[in-house]
Amino acid sequence: METAQLYTYFLKAEALTTDSRSIPKNSIFFALKGENFNGNLFAEEAIRKGAIYAVVDEEQYKNHPNIILVDNTLTALQQLANYHRKQIGIPIIALTGSNGKTTTKELIHSVLKTTYKTIATKGNLNNHIGVPLTLLSMTKETELGIVEMGANHLNEITTLCTIAEPDFGYITNFGKAHLEGFGGVEGVIKGKSELYQFLIKHQKTIFINADDPIQNNKTANYPRKFSFSHEHGDVIIKFINAQPFVELSVNNMSIHSQLIGSYNLNNIAAAAMIGCYFNVPMDNIKNAIENYTPTNNRSQIIEQNGRKIILDAYNANPSSMHAALDNFALQKETSKLAILGDMFELGEAAANEHQQIADYAASLVNTDVWLVGHNFSNTISSLKKFPNFKDLEYFLSEYPVKQKLLLIKGSRGMALERTIKFL
Ligand code: ATP
Ligand code: MG
Repeated sequence: METAQLYTYFLKAEALTTDSRSIPKNSIFFALKGENFNGNLFAEEAIRKGAIYAVVDEEQYKNHPNIILVDNTLTALQQLANYHRKQIGIPIIALTGSNGKTTTKELIHSVLKTTYKTIATKGNLNNHIGVPLTLLSMTKETELGIVEMGANHLNEITTLCTIAEPDFGYITNFGKAHLEGFGGVEGVIKGKSELYQFLIKHQKTIFINADDPIQNNKTANYPRKFSFSHEHGDVIIKFINAQPFVELSVNNMSIHSQLIGSYNLNNIAAAAMIGCYFNVPMDNIKNAIENYTPTNNRSQIIEQNGRKIILDAYNANPSSMHAALDNFALQKETSKLAILGDMFELGEAAANEHQQIADYAASLVNTDVWLVGHNFSNTISSLKKFPNFKDLEYFLSEYPVKQKLLLIKGSRGMALERTIKFL
């Protein structure tokens, strides 16, 4: 079926869904396939539950007049998203990078929505399905779109750019994340830079952190860019402190954020830069950033039993681990404990990267460090080690923690937020 025709069905529907468990009335259901499920099986049920159309890609499930057959539902969804994107024709800002995409996206959204009708990626829906869904959630009323793009291997960002056709783009950073899929740091740089390649090819605008040498280098000689820097940029950002909340100035206006972690400086700076570019009044930029608080284990502060816990158990990789430890080192408290969990998806680099983090952590003053997980346990280090969470749990039940300030950080799979219960 032609995308244009599928689009007429999409326009008749009041919502779009890919989840057979939640079928809004008068929606269009896309039957996607995953490793363990086949959405085609639920097409008929979707219609029964109130969908006006269901899109399938296996002929035997086209057993109702409102069930539409396509070659591949995922491809059809992506093409539909691109078609819709062209129809609405609004400026779209794409965001990628190793760390801080969601935080930066939320901050940009908070800033821009003070002045424009904006739609941004919901949560972390940043992949080959999430990007089309984000685009399809935009309407003719939307004035600006903000799209988070995630990638763990090469060519993924190119594909997402082909679907979203961004007019603007920002890369948060090039760090050591998903080293396994990218085959090393060079692969990460190449993979993320696919966003720059797309923007340059189509003569679009690149937002950069001019203090980042890789961002400078990759966009050198390209005229259409807008930057922030602590010295020479379109927007001047000065770091004031992060004890524990990040305080900064944007073109001399001071901002007291509710975000912990010195690494959040760049995330905030990016949002301020983009706000300035789109002429959002300075007061709105300040208020939006000052009112923003993070959710779901991303750098949260918890006060419990007379101690402060920096809970950063949402994810971890060598760069974000390093950034979290740098920030922890800045905290003036004299009795500190960092509980660090394994970092996943590092492939061959795992042993070396865990060793480097263990060495760095061991060098921190006034700080005890406990390492949790198989990889950390294999490091050569005098730090206290727990091969798995059970051992940590057992230890905590016998020896209550005395330190007043804690950092808890590890990969999602380590689920170190479980530690909180034992403190
Ligand atoms: P994902 O790959 O899961 O989409 P993300 O790039 O969207 O992650 P966030 O969810 O914003 O990243 O942040 C996750 C964690 O990364 C934070 O809790 C923090 O530890 C770390 N982090 C955030 N921003 C930065 C940054 N600029 N540099 C280094 N680490 C960061
Ligand atoms: Mg994210």
